[in-house]
Amino acid sequence: MLSIVHRNIGWIEVICGSMFSGKSEELIRRLRRAFIARQKVAVFKPKIDVRFSEDHIVSHSELKLASRVVENAWDILEQSLEAQVVGIDEAQFFNRDLVVICQKLANMGKRVIVAGLDQDFRGEPFEPIPQLLAVAEYITKTHAICVVCGNPANYTQRKIQNTERVIVGASDIYEARCRNCFEPPEDAKTEFKLSGKGRRKKKEKPG
Ligand code: ADP
Ligand code: ZN
Repeated sequence: MLSIVHRNIGWIEVICGSMFSGKSEELIRRLRRAFIARQKVAVFKPKIDVRFSEDHIVSHSELKLASRVVENAWDILEQSLEAQVVGIDEAQFFNRDLVVICQKLANMGKRVIVAGLDQDFRGEPFEPIPQLLAVAEYITKTHAICVVCGNPANYTQRKIQNTERVIVGASDIYEARCRNCFEPPEDAKTEFKLSGKGRRKKKEKPG
């Protein structure tokens, strides 16, 4: 895909999908290859996500790569002036300024690789990822495995009752589900809700 890209042009790549779909793994894989190619790489994550480490991005499979924690998207711009490749994990925790910053970085000739959740626990688009998808040159959608039925999973099921959009957690709070098995919360405004889907009663477990 990228082998035909001429030098001195920047672009935006977005890696998106549900939790556990391998976004961080894929981001780390791409960034490691850039390191091997001796490119100057800068890696960032938002301050809100220090679940596993303060100075690394870490996948659920425990791959990790050194990164810097930033308060907001403007810090990324300030700290990546020298970089040729800019990696950003957990992008859903930044506000819409991230779109402006990614555009600026790409316009400066940098390769910008952004990973983030495209839907929240209600199954609703998780800003600013939809806006980033619109302006990105390259998009990769990753899928987890549905923990209920084993199909490809595109949804993040919250296992606890809480209506706040952002609750930072891992498999203690969330699991991956497919379209059939995803059960949106009562206040979700999704198409699922309108069609009544997801409000099916759970099958009684035998015994
Ligand atoms: P993401 O960044 O999308 O949350 P990660 O890259 O951090 O995903 O983690 C992906 C890894 O999560 C997989 O390689 C696997 O080891 C683990 N994992 C845990 N639960 C699941 C699941 N239901 N489906 C797929 N992978 C899972
Ligand atoms: Zn399923």
